[in-house]
Amino acid sequence: MTALPQAPGRLSGRVALVTGGSRGIGRAIALALAADGAAVAVNYRSGSAEAAEVVAEIEAAGGRAVALAADVAEPAEADALVERTIAELGGLHILVNNAGIARDGLLYSMGPEDWLAVMRVNFGGTFNCTKAAMGHLMGQRAGAIVNISSVMGERGWTGESNYAASKGAINAFTRCSAIELARFGVRVNAVLPGFAPTELVGGLLAREGGKGVKRQIPMRAFARVEEVARVTAFLASDDAAYMTGSLMTVDGGAAAVLGVGAPL
Ligand code: NAP
Repeated sequence: MTALPQAPGRLSGRVALVTGGSRGIGRAIALALAADGAAVAVNYRSGSAEAAEVVAEIEAAGGRAVALAADVAEPAEADALVERTIAELGGLHILVNNAGIARDGLLYSMGPEDWLAVMRVNFGGTFNCTKAAMGHLMGQRAGAIVNISSVMGERGWTGESNYAASKGAINAFTRCSAIELARFGVRVNAVLPGFAPTELVGGLLAREGGKGVKRQIPMRAFARVEEVARVTAFLASDDAAYMTGSLMTVDGGAAAVLGVGAPL
């Protein structure tokens, strides 16, 4: 965990649901929210052992957590996931739509199953879980939703047309749902990470130790998953009380670059 200063217990008494919380960025988010005092439902699709480890880590630090299986691409499973979170942890205040997949490939050779799978999990999962949770959050006139999008949703990249489109959809959805839910005291924001070494981007960053990609990042470093998690926890907390509809990049400056120029 990063040693950045934080307000202790700023999420005490809150319950958070993190989709895809079993590994990678979602795992770091689950741990960060728990460190801030939230009880956390750690969702996964197939990695039950990994999710159990996250729960054990939170409990060992004195927190409360539960691992819940669900495929967020299925609306009925998303509904059941939210219901079980409320039943097992006694409420719901924070939803982090983090679950995501990639099926990279050139558009020329991309089959319909490649774009559909990515759209169903990335955007579909965000849509389904938001729909499942919003009634509860609106009813209590308080809640925070954080969608884990990507800088790819705002920029182009060879081989990522399906993934980038799914993240662009999440960005548009973040703005629209923020507008609709603001009057009910529910905030909706998005975090747009750049590159963080996880299973999702392992192949991409493995080439030459990721040197080619790193060269294009002004800070010349990949994100640590904890750095994405800290921004997510901020948006989920009252520290971001006047923020809704925002898309926050956490990318070492990658999205700020117009092109790679020679140093002057
Ligand atoms: P990861 O290491 O591959 O983890 C993905 C997580 O999502 C796993 O916990 C996985 O659980 C879960 N998941 C996948 N499909 C699911 C489904 N249908 N229902 C429920 N859970 C599902 O990926 P990551 O890099 O941490 O990515 C997390 C999020 O950050 C994604 O939305 C990704 O697009 C975004 N992001 C990542 C990067 C990066 O550089 N890593 C950059 C920008 C944005 P199971 O193992 O159980 O399937």
